Amino acid sequence: MRPICGAASGCAVHASGKGWCCAWRVQCCGSDKGEIRLTFSPGPFGRGRRLANPGILFYRGLSIISYLGAKDPGMGSEPFIFCPRCGARLTQRFMFGRERPVCPACGYVVFYDPKVAVGVLVEHEGKVLLVRRRYDPGKGGWALPAGFVEIDEGPVAAAIRECREETGLIVRIRSVLDVFPVSMDPRGPAVFIVYRGVPIGGSLQPGDDALEVGFFPPDGLPSPLVFASTRRALWRWRREKGFPERRFY
Ligand SMILES: [Zn+2]
Repeated sequence: MRPICGAASGCAVHASGKGWCCAWRVQCCGSDKGEIRLTFSPGPFGRGRRLANPGILFYRGLSIISYLGAKDPGMGSEPFIFCPRCGARLTQRFMFGRERPVCPACGYVVFYDPKVAVGVLVEHEGKVLLVRRRYDPGKGGWALPAGFVEIDEGPVAAAIRECREETGLIVRIRSVLDVFPVSMDPRGPAVFIVYRGVPIGGSLQPGDDALEVGFFPPDGLPSPLVFASTRRALWRWRREKGFPERRFY
């Protein structure tokens, strides 16, 4: 899914029809600060549906300050107003290539950077392990066992931990399947690392944040599959198994 500008009326760039009028470039309305309402259109891994999910993009000049979404997929990062180190009110300054919130009192620079998330595509006897999520985002849908890396653990350890917590299985990580950015998540942008794993112990049972867990063949995946990351990883996995590259969800 890609953001498009919802500020259609009165926006010459949008009206010109020249592609994405503000997709993170904010050439749209021209004022030096303000809001743009966003909706989301289908992307290469999205279904052909439109999410009516307005959020607010804050920007100044040509620099995006933050995106305030959105219950459903959105950028999610709320802007810092006060310095997290000393509490003074932050100002915007051009530093390290773009405008960033900077503390005038102590010099602290706020870098809005992505979280690190990990998931595991666990395969056993030709089937893939999926979790039906108990909570939002993606409540009720099926996804890979996944979660965020804690501040004091490595990504492989986090992947093993998340898998154990959500499915009861202990896995061995074999390799990296894919690494890609996640931008449309209400918890904020992330870099998502998907590993391949195989079960080496434990017993299959849903954890606290899962409704169900199970293994599924490539031609019998459950529905709905939630998150573009899930669909992309499964699309790659299916393709390796000789399934056609057409969309399967
Ligand atoms: Zn400060």
